[in-house]
Amino acid sequence: MSDARRCPFCGATTEEALCGSCGRDPAAPRRPCRACSKMTPADGAACVHCHAVATSEWTWKLPLIIGLFVLAFVISVMLHMVR
Ligand SMILES: [Zn+2]
Ligand SMILES: [Zn+2]
Repeated sequence: MSDARRCPFCGATTEEALCGSCGRDPAAPRRPCRACSKMTPADGAACVHCHAVATSEWTWKLPLIIGLFVLAFVISVMLHMVR
């Protein structure tokens, strides 16, 4: 029983190399999910719990910045049309 490890991904106790409950390697590199803060394998893009996709800051900031630029452009064009 000394080999029993608690699977960080599903919480089951396993003595196997791969978790018998979720089939993942309990010793695999892992990272906390940003959405649900549970542990998910580091090599997977999507969280195994909530399926949130790990994205860098820019993946959502860049479209936001582009959208703001487009909005500012549209507003400036509209102001020119009013004059
Ligand atoms: Zn597991
Ligand atoms: Zn998650």
